[in-house]
Amino acid sequence: MSSAKLLDKHGRTLTYLRISLTDRCNLRCTYCTPQHNFTYLHPREILTYEELLRTCRLLADMGLKKVRCTGGEPLVRQGIVPFLEQLGEIQGIEEVCLTTNGVLLEDYAQGLWDAGVRHINVSLDTLRSERFKSITGRDCFHKVWAGIMALLDLGFDKVKINSVVARGMNEDEIADIASLAKQYPIEVRFIEFMPVGHNRWGQQLVMEVAEMQAIVENALGALNPVPSEKNAGPAKLFDFKGARGKVGFISPLSQHFCNSCNRIRLTSDGRLRLCLFSDLEYDLKGVIRSGATDQALSHFFMQAIQKKPENYNKGTEAGSPSCTRAMGTIGG
Ligand code: SAM
Repeated sequence: MSSAKLLDKHGRTLTYLRISLTDRCNLRCTYCTPQHNFTYLHPREILTYEELLRTCRLLADMGLKKVRCTGGEPLVRQGIVPFLEQLGEIQGIEEVCLTTNGVLLEDYAQGLWDAGVRHINVSLDTLRSERFKSITGRDCFHKVWAGIMALLDLGFDKVKINSVVARGMNEDEIADIASLAKQYPIEVRFIEFMPVGHNRWGQQLVMEVAEMQAIVENALGALNPVPSEKNAGPAKLFDFKGARGKVGFISPLSQHFCNSCNRIRLTSDGRLRLCLFSDLEYDLKGVIRSGATDQALSHFFMQAIQKKPENYNKGTEAGSPSCTRAMGTIGG
């Protein structure tokens, strides 16, 4: 076992890895897709499952505890279920989670359960079928809903719904979406709309979490803070009278959470990314494919994490945040 630990120079212990398993997606969400034409990566540009498992074994040896697979859409990558099962068997990894748009979830739910996955985040920004089609470009609301119900029927421990809120897109549905936490044992989390990868972002489209929270309180009554769990992400969580689930808010723009950031990311083209808002990346794939030993790879991780920016305002050497990559290659 390696004695090196994933501790960065700002005193943060990095226990959480997000992997973008593919840049391909079966939806075209208006707020996520780049405005310019883009081409998907060639399959050989994407890390193989063997390369990913080796990476995770080495990182687990250095203290990694949680891995989230995302994309693109992770469920469109062939062979994902056995891969997730193998990830869960790595000593030290306590949680294997998935973030999905839910389109294929109904078909995959049982397989994911059998593979030992218990924590699934489903992205859903509207409860209206027509609006779903206009946001995502596909008429799949009912498929996603059936997928969420399949997770609840199977008894998944943590089912979360992530809703990005943008003015003019869905802010009029905040109360309805939050009400899902009254009806179901679901954690509903609202996320501020971020400028990422040349998307159709504008400051005027952003609703800050303080305003979202006021809307939810107005509809559901007082929100009571609940402590976050082990290895938790940046959501501030609340319950309310009569709730079966929870409501959470993620504020990457209005109140950054860099001090407590425990994450690193692996892009779909195999680069280690240390901060969503920093284009500083390290070419893990190049190192692996040059024949690096385990020791050399562990050294690579230790060197790279020392470059994790202290906060997102220091994202680039010029000192301002930057995320020029498409969200699908980073994974959110
Ligand atoms: N396809 C999967 C899904 O839909 O969950 C995983 C990839 S998706 C890029 C991951 C998350 O990023 C989704 O919850 C999505 O809503 C969120 N996202 C994408 N673009 C965003 C933006 N500009 N601001 C905030 N969240 C964004």
